[in-house]
Amino acid sequence: MKFSLDEQGFFYRDTWAEVDLDRVRMNVKGIKSHLPEDVEFIAVVKANAYGHGDSQVAEAALEAGASMLAVAFMDEALALRKKRITAPILVLGASRPEDVNIAAEEGIILTVFQEEWLAKAQDVLKKNTTLMLHIKIDTGMGRIGIRSIEELKAVERLIEEDERLQLHGIYTHYATADELDDTYFNKQLALFRKMLSSMEKQPLVVHSSNSAAALMHADAQFNAVRVGIAMYGLAPSMEIQPELPVDLQEAFTLYSRLVHVKKLDKGEKVSYGATYEAPEEIWVGTLPIGYADGWIRRLQGQEVLVDGKRSPIIGRICMDQCMVKLPNEVPVGTIATLIGSQGKEAISINEIASKLETINYEVPCIISSRVPRLYRQDGKVVDLNNSLL
Ligand SMILES: *Cc1c(COP(=O)(O)O)cnc(C)c1O
Repeated sequence: MKFSLDEQGFFYRDTWAEVDLDRVRMNVKGIKSHLPEDVEFIAVVKANAYGHGDSQVAEAALEAGASMLAVAFMDEALALRKKRITAPILVLGASRPEDVNIAAEEGIILTVFQEEWLAKAQDVLKKNTTLMLHIKIDTGMGRIGIRSIEELKAVERLIEEDERLQLHGIYTHYATADELDDTYFNKQLALFRKMLSSMEKQPLVVHSSNSAAALMHADAQFNAVRVGIAMYGLAPSMEIQPELPVDLQEAFTLYSRLVHVKKLDKGEKVSYGATYEAPEEIWVGTLPIGYADGWIRRLQGQEVLVDGKRSPIIGRICMDQCMVKLPNEVPVGTIATLIGSQGKEAISINEIASKLETINYEVPCIISSRVPRLYRQDGKVVDLNNSLL
C-alpha cells in the first residue's frame, strides 16, 4: 500500500518515523535563548542526526540560529556537502591524515588531537591549499585529544609556521556534565582554562559544552556550544531532567499500521518458539516492524498505542514483524504509535530506553535506515528525502 497520509510519500510500507522539524527549531531557539547572546550554536548532526535525518535537521537548525555543524566522521561531512549544505562543518572524531586534502577541498574543518597526526597530515597536504583545524584538548574524557601544555605548544607552533594550516578553533569534551555532582566537570573546566591561557594566541572559536553543560552551566561558556541530544528534545540524562531550564520537545516519533487483525481462542500461540499462549479469547494485530528495523527483540512486552490505548507486544519480535494484543477489535490499517502520543497516552523515547536499560541517545540511532523518515514542517507532514537528493 502506498503511504497515504498526504500522498507525498515515496515508499510502500506501513511503518515510518516522523521527525518534527518545527520542534527541532523550537529546541534550538529555546537553548539559544538560555545562553549568552554571543555564544555560537554548533548543531551536532553525527550519526544521521541521531537517526533523525542529517541534512533535514541541519537545515532546520541553521534556520533556527545554528551557525555551524558537527559530525563524527569525514564521510558524514561529505554526505552533507553532497546534499548542498554549505555551512561550516567540524569533524569531531579522528580523521585519517592521508585524507586531509579532501577535507581542504570541501572546506571541512578537522580535529587535531595529537602532534604525530598533524605531522603526518602536513606530509601529505598539497601546496596552495587551506586546511581549517580545531585543536582538541583531553581534559579528562580520556578519548582523543592533546594532554599536555608542551604538546599543545608544539601543535600551535606547527600550525603557525605552516601557511596551509589555519587554526580556527579549540575545544574539549566533558565526561560528567550530565551528572548533578559537578566536581569532575569543574576540574575539566579549570584544566581547559589553564591550557588555553598557555597559548600564544587564542583561536577564534573556543568551545567545551555538550547539551548538558550548555543547559546546566550556561554561565561557563566560551564562545560556542556543541549541542546534540537537547536539540532533538531529549534530556542528556534522567538525573538532570528535572533540573533542565528549557522546555524540550521530542522530535522523533515512530508509527506502524496493523496489517492483519484476528481473534485467537484461549490456548492458541503466537510467534517463534510458540512462547505466548492466549490466556482467553483475545484480539491480536500484526505490525510490519521487527528487529531489522531496530525494534529489537528485547522490546517484547513493550506497549504500543492502538485506539488510544496501551497494547503490549506479545510473543517474540521477528525480523520484520511483531504482534500486539489489541484492546478490542480494530480494522486493518489502524495506526499503532510505537513512539509518540495518541489520544491521552504517550510513549516517550525515555520509556523505550528504560525498557532496553540504555540511554535515550541510543533509541533513535538504532531505528534502522529501512524505516523511512517523514518530516513535519510548518505543521504539515512532508517527504524531504527526494527533494534533497
Ligand atoms: C556527540 C558529541 C557532542 C554532542 O553531545 P550531546 O550530549 O548530544 O549534546 C558534543 N561534543 C562531542 C565531542 C561529541 O562527540
